Amino acid sequence: MQEVKVEGSCLCGNIKYEITGNLGIFQYCHCSRCRKFTGSAHAANLLVLPNQFKWLKGEKEVTRFLPNETKHFATAFCNNCGSSMPWNAKSGKSVVIPAGSLDEHPGIEPFQNIFFESRAKWYKAASDLPEYNKLPKK
Ligand SMILES: [Zn+2]
Ligand SMILES: [Zn+2]
Repeated sequence: MQEVKVEGSCLCGNIKYEITGNLGIFQYCHCSRCRKFTGSAHAANLLVLPNQFKWLKGEKEVTRFLPNETKHFATAFCNNCGSSMPWNAKSGKSVVIPAGSLDEHPGIEPFQNIFFESRAKWYKAASDLPEYNKLPKK
């Protein structure tokens, strides 16, 4: 696979990281934990190997949250702005990158929905909705 170097950052800019490749997995996760954490319909996550991930700045400002009852799932966020940040899977085998925090195209696109049965009851695919390039006038 072609090596793609891509940077990511949080909303306030205190934290920056870099990925240099991926595990070939980019997916939307509809599980209830991802919905709670993102506050959105689903997470959009890219998986990379631990050696494909590096903090460029602000690592000390990242808070990790490790729920007791999960095997894989954890979360991380910026202490200042609350943005979702990359987290190590509990297994240590992969780093989960919240794709919305990437600053460039990672060279791979989402190809599946996981935990789709757990999706929000109000969920509607973005592609089914009208599209506006600005805030629409009422
Ligand atoms: Zn921040
Ligand atoms: Zn999930």
